[in-house]
Amino acid sequence: MPAEDAGTVLPASGPAGIPPGAAHHRTAGDGWVQCACGRRHWGRLGAAGLLLARRDAAGEPVAVVLQHRAPWSDQGGTWGVPGGALAPEEAPEDGALREAAEEAGIDPGHVRVLGTVELVHPDWSYTTVLADEHEPVTPSATDAESVEVRWVPVGDVVALPLLPAFADAWPDLLDRLRRSGR
Ligand SMILES: [Zn+2]
Repeated sequence: MPAEDAGTVLPASGPAGIPPGAAHHRTAGDGWVQCACGRRHWGRLGAAGLLLARRDAAGEPVAVVLQHRAPWSDQGGTWGVPGGALAPEEAPEDGALREAAEEAGIDPGHVRVLGTVELVHPDWSYTTVLADEHEPVTPSATDAESVEVRWVPVGDVVALPLLPAFADAWPDLLDRLRRSGR
């Protein structure tokens, strides 16, 4: 069934062309924002993602869950955190947990939210929700937006081809994870 036949049509270029038949969860928040920063961003109401950390016995973060994004998606092929557009009246924490469940099979009951970091643009914002693994989490690619989702050792993160915005944010996010575990 061609996607064009659907009554609710994806925005002109969705998170790029979504393959016919691909599992994709839509909300009224899906869509592009043309931002005064000169770029466009996904999520009419903003977006949020989950940065989930695993700690060692000393409380140091040793690994985080990252998503290898599908090649057809926006900035595809890169690695970032599971996340996506916020739904109407959805708190960033809730949106990040919903997306992490949809895209990465992460049970929200197995994580403990530590706090949020908001990146504010003129017409858009992105909230990174920092969380700890509370019960064992075995992430997996559970929808078409992910090629792979897995625990990545903290020291290996920068060796991956990261989503540029995540690469910029990573040093500060890791620092916050380290401080929040104490
Ligand atoms: Zn912007």
